[in-house]
Amino acid sequence: MKRTGICPKCGSRDLVRVPDDAHRYLANSICITKLVTVERVPVGRYVCCDCGYVENWVETRRDLDRIKGAFG
Ligand SMILES: [Zn+2]
Repeated sequence: MKRTGICPKCGSRDLVRVPDDAHRYLANSICITKLVTVERVPVGRYVCCDCGYVENWVETRRDLDRIKGAFG
């Protein structure tokens, strides 16, 4: 979906990327709880405007490495 630009569920090309905003879309972030702090890893979303299917992507290598370090 992210790479093809096509919805895998209905084949539509009417997709929008919704960036993860730390303030507005807090619930979509992945939380890494540390001893005294909580880090948030932003998760960008691709939404199909025809069928409503949503795909979630951690979008940077650095963030992926942070998640791997915390949960892997
Ligand atoms: Zn769709």
